[in-house]
Amino acid sequence: MSVETLTIQGISRPVSRIALGTWAIGGWMWGGSDESKAIATIRSAVERGINLIDTAPVYGFGNSEEIVGKALEGIRDKAVIATKVALDWNDDGPFRNATPARIRQEIEDSLRRLKTDHIDLYQVHWPDPLTPIDETARELEKLRQEGKVLALGVSNFSPEQMDAFRDVAPLAAVQPPYNLFERDIEKDVLSYAKDHGLAVLAYGALCRGLLAGKMSPSTRFDGDDLRKVDPKFQSPRFEQYLAAVAALEDYARARHDKTVLALAIRWILDKGPTIALWGARKPEQIEGVDEAFGWSLSQEELDEIDKILTRHVTDPVGPEFMAPPTRKG
Ligand code: NAP
Repeated sequence: MSVETLTIQGISRPVSRIALGTWAIGGWMWGGSDESKAIATIRSAVERGINLIDTAPVYGFGNSEEIVGKALEGIRDKAVIATKVALDWNDDGPFRNATPARIRQEIEDSLRRLKTDHIDLYQVHWPDPLTPIDETARELEKLRQEGKVLALGVSNFSPEQMDAFRDVAPLAAVQPPYNLFERDIEKDVLSYAKDHGLAVLAYGALCRGLLAGKMSPSTRFDGDDLRKVDPKFQSPRFEQYLAAVAALEDYARARHDKTVLALAIRWILDKGPTIALWGARKPEQIEGVDEAFGWSLSQEELDEIDKILTRHVTDPVGPEFMAPPTRKG
């Protein structure tokens, strides 16, 4: 099955509509990660035509970007690198910082770690309420003019915040949370992206692994794994989400002879100018990637899926727990 692609303004190469997400590869908040498996995962993705690799400085405090850099040595020209900017950190953890000075420092650190002379898509990770958006956008536009980045994106931004950015610099993409269980962007961001020609990089496509269909009520998480505190993974809500996943698995099998994982990715791809960000850290986790391409869900099926969700998830909760704090003063 051939990989579906789309075009992101400013990037000449078509990008795959599934991107490899490398947060877990950085280890931090995912109970650690194995570098050789991580490198094999990234190389396997590129070999399969999944050319868009999403990372961020904060993922393992440089570790994820360094691993991506190592994995792409010799095959950089086959990959499209999306990284991020504007989360700073100290001994207490990460915090938002989108000042021009921070951006200047981060671009050089990211280029060095990623072993590249340019970043294809450079995204503001979270809005920083203490820095006016026009200041951030102006500095990023300078980087674009200098050729250090090809296209600009934002993540976790509202339409109003994107308007403020677009007043100063061209915006090519937005990266919000979006999956079968986390659908806030259907209120405004998704239609905004359609209206303004932005690619939507949907993060948490598998809802932190839930939609891979391999979990059970006895699943436990190790070390600093964020799912220990994620409200979706706490009983009795966890059981509701697992019941929905089981019902979706039955539905996907009966209607399309597919897994719930393939259905979860397909559902995102059928919702608009979207790219599904699939987090993985072991090569076998992306073996089924082709299963999501080359078919689609009808409106009747989308409606049926909504009914399954409301039947099982009676106490839904969003991903807000992940939002990093702002700077102090
Ligand atoms: P995700 O894609 O919803 O889930 C990733 C996890 O699902 C994997 O680490 C793995 O967990 C599990 N998984 C994946 N494939 C599997 C398979 N075939 N079988 C069983 N389990 C499987 O979550 P995510 O990594 O948080 O989100 C994806 C990407 O979006 C991130 O990597 C990052 O690039 C981006 N993101 C961005 C933001 C932002 O603020 N911009 C926030 C969150 C994420 P285990 O390895 O533990 O089994």
